[in-house]
Amino acid sequence: MFIERNVSLQPLNSFGIAARAARMVRVRGEDDVRAVLADAELAAQDRFVLGGGSNIVLTGDVKGVVLKVEVAGRRVLGQTARHTIVEAGAGENWHDFVGVFKHAPAQPGDFGLAGRALILRVRLALPRAWQPVLSYLELERKAQDSGISAPDARQIHDWIVAIRRAKLPDPAVIGNAGSFFKNPTVTPEQCQDIIGRDPKLVHYPMPDGSVKLAAGWLIDACGWKGKSVGNAGVYDKQALVLVNRGGRAHPAPGGAGMTLARASPVARFAAADGYDPARHAQQALSAVLPRCAPGLAAQAGALLLHDDWPEALALAVQHLRVHRLALDADRRRLEQAAIDAGQVCGVPGRV
Ligand SMILES: Cc1cc2nc3c(=O)[nH]c(=O)nc-3n(C[C@H](O)[C@H](O)[C@H](O)COP(=O)(O)OP(=O)(O)OC[C@H]3O[C@@H](n4cnc5c(N)ncnc54)[C@H](O)[C@@H]3O)c2cc1C
Repeated sequence: MFIERNVSLQPLNSFGIAARAARMVRVRGEDDVRAVLADAELAAQDRFVLGGGSNIVLTGDVKGVVLKVEVAGRRVLGQTARHTIVEAGAGENWHDFVGVFKHAPAQPGDFGLAGRALILRVRLALPRAWQPVLSYLELERKAQDSGISAPDARQIHDWIVAIRRAKLPDPAVIGNAGSFFKNPTVTPEQCQDIIGRDPKLVHYPMPDGSVKLAAGWLIDACGWKGKSVGNAGVYDKQALVLVNRGGRAHPAPGGAGMTLARASPVARFAAADGYDPARHAQQALSAVLPRCAPGLAAQAGALLLHDDWPEALALAVQHLRVHRLALDADRRRLEQAAIDAGQVCGVPGRV
């Protein structure tokens, strides 16, 4: 194990935000993890696990130790009657991995342990008799336009890559982390209230009775598509994507544009009748913080004293996302408060 010091993280995050790590260790296997845990200096530090850096926003230098996951290796482990079992090191590039095992069924965000464990490898059971799901509108269009009604795995892979390339900016050209905002869910009553004022609202009824709103539409409707705040901007072809317009030379400071882009839809689309996101968020925080780690409770409490409930809520949500399971009642309560208050961006935030 080798400890690198004062390392630039700019080439290691797809936004291209300039930040430095006080210490960084490249984790290539179990031995490196053991060495980190046994090291007196590192054991006392906060740890930040970094993969490809394509789903993070660095808001400042990292003071503890960055564990840069570089576990390599892709292999077929074996076959059962119905599945082929494949394994990939956590440092492998997902695109290349899918390219090799052409019909991998999972989405990158499916490994829900990120933030609570250091994942070194993942194993996937790929059905041997696989069925493509082609019900996505853009895929249906591709099938129609090309006249290929029974595409093979390679064909589907190529179509999906083409669709994504057309919609999302290439981080090598303009810094970004893909879709940034989570689609908020509201009650049917809240949805009707908004439709009363914005009849074109794009929304989807969910099986549990709630209604999901298209965050991209909300942001677009507020006029944010293509806008910039300093070097942080909203992508002109897709309002869900925040971009770094400053390039590597003048990177966006983490935070500025995102705060504005999320505040404005709240102002416009929050349910009008008696809705008070501040009171709602403060009540949720007061109920949950006493059950949280003392450090978090103190920090968020201090922010609340200064009426900075948005920051207190964002801090608490980030913390619980790392330290509590997705179904934890406190975590869900604060996440819902954050959604209601429009703080629906962040990590992990896709639906
Ligand atoms: C153009 C573009 C399109 C995108 N499209 C999508 C999309 O459709 N769906 C989607 O879900 N994401 C998408 N993303 C976001 C991102 O690429 C994925 O979420 C990706 O899986 C993040 O992996 P990473 O290794 O870059 O994680 P990082 O950004 O390095 O880390 C993200 C989080 O995971 C933790 N983490 C990373 N590695 C490990 C590990 N080995 N063990 C434990 N914790 C770990 C980190 O601490 C951090 O909290 C897109 C990004 C871009 C730039």
